[in-house]
Amino acid sequence: MARRFVVANQKGGVGKTTTTVNLAAALASLGRSVLLVDLDPQGNATTGSGLDKRDLKRSVYHVMIGLADVVEACQPSPTGGYVVLPANRDLAGAELELIDFDQRESRLREALQAVDGEYDYVLIDCPPSLSLLTLNGLCAARGVIIPMQCEYYALEGLSDLVNTIRKVHANFNHELEVTGLLRVMFDPRATLSQQVSRQLAEHFGDKVFTTIIPRNVRLAEAPSYGKSGVVFDPSSKGARAYLQFGAELIERMEKRQS
Ligand code: ADP
Ligand code: MG
Repeated sequence: MARRFVVANQKGGVGKTTTTVNLAAALASLGRSVLLVDLDPQGNATTGSGLDKRDLKRSVYHVMIGLADVVEACQPSPTGGYVVLPANRDLAGAELELIDFDQRESRLREALQAVDGEYDYVLIDCPPSLSLLTLNGLCAARGVIIPMQCEYYALEGLSDLVNTIRKVHANFNHELEVTGLLRVMFDPRATLSQQVSRQLAEHFGDKVFTTIIPRNVRLAEAPSYGKSGVVFDPSSKGARAYLQFGAELIERMEKRQS
């Protein structure tokens, strides 16, 4: 059975997509089979995986409203070594269309069951909201990875997210748990960055991943080449951090549990 994670934080620009794409590439380079699900109508994870979001015959949208089979909609990333269930603006309409369905929060989970045996890891990238799309992501996963910027307002909104996760756990998905908070865009020269990073570790203990992702321009440049930072410049600090994060997740998932 695949280990299923959703990368969630309702704030925009906090590093969800960068984390999903680079973690997918890191796990792939560590020999794991990975499916990346793009659940954001912006389609940034799709583009950042080297696929043209304007040229999708089938996407996660078609899968969720029952117009396409999940296997048909998946495409290999030409650059990443993993498979993508892509998204584009069509997905923005899904929120409304899904209202007519029973169990509309479970559409993605139901669809992914057909491919569950084929992957070691499934990683779901969410839009910056606590919308029905994010709810579908939370229902389809077992673990939530929460990227957090190490800045003053980092914790703002975290309680809303944690409350949402609790409600989803209680009502829809008893398997769901927070796997961990990932400190991203860390600036080692900034005192504030260091303080916030330390506070997160003190407050949340082993719910904070050991790996810290630094602010690194190569990670920001890579998407315009349709690549993850891990593939674009493997020796950069950002790429090395995501490779380390991939190894840490594998260690947590595969070594400590059976
Ligand atoms: P989200 O998906 O949460 O909206 P993104 O992953 O798209 O966030 O990141 C927002 C912006 O910050 C993007 O331009 C991205 O390239 C950049 N970025 C993300 N992580 C880093 C990092 N560690 N170092 C430098 N830039 C980053
Ligand atoms: Mg994003």
